[in-house]
Amino acid sequence: SSDTPLRPLPRRVGVMGGTFDPIHHGHLVAASEVQAWFDLDEVVFVPTGAPWQKADRTVTPAEDRYLMTVIATASNPRFTVSRVDIDRPGTTYTIDTLRDLKAEMPDAELYFITGADALADIFTWRDAEGLFELARFVGCTRPGYTMDESTIASIPADRVTMVEIPALAISSTDCRERTRRGEPVWYLVPDGVVQYIAKHDLYPKEPQDSA
Ligand code: ATP
Ligand code: MG
Repeated sequence: SSDTPLRPLPRRVGVMGGTFDPIHHGHLVAASEVQAWFDLDEVVFVPTGAPWQKADRTVTPAEDRYLMTVIATASNPRFTVSRVDIDRPGTTYTIDTLRDLKAEMPDAELYFITGADALADIFTWRDAEGLFELARFVGCTRPGYTMDESTIASIPADRVTMVEIPALAISSTDCRERTRRGEPVWYLVPDGVVQYIAKHDLYPKEPQDSA
């Protein structure tokens, strides 16, 4: 009403969690689109902790993934990188990420940005209900992934928004495999990340089958 004192709007902060092994332009475009769409003051990139096994493979050390994320986001004044997940021991759970960020920024409204593929896993995440209390969720549609009807139906509509990201069929898996085959990743990841991967030989070239 008119006698409500004016106060600044809560700061809106996007949270982009990921393994970032390596960070690529799909992540960066998604973060940028959501930043613009929701007029976010900031997007915090949060590399997952280590030691961590992603299905069947060993993940690159957290410090390398953190540094690549810093390099990739350095030029954008609205992008920052948080160490909360890499400094917390053990497996990363999104509920812990959001609790830690909320403790750092109690007044912020958090928007957790995730690909549609990861959003579909949300109910396998620890404490799914608590997640919706801590943050709004923004699901980015990504080429090659579809959400099944039951997943869409089980998501609280007031806490989740789907956003279409320009079709970027880039994945970290593909970037790693290309590097191991000796193929270029220029323009799939930022230039500094190409150079960081080469400097530290993060994804060593595998011996080619030869006759
Ligand atoms: P991997 O192939 O190793 O699983 P990834 O490319 O999926 O890697 P992650 O670090 O696992 O990258 O992803 C972090 C987040 O970014 C997830 O929520 C994922 O869904 C989302 N994401 C990944 N690639 C894209 C893309 N091209 N467009 C939009 N979102 C993406
Ligand atoms: Mg993934």
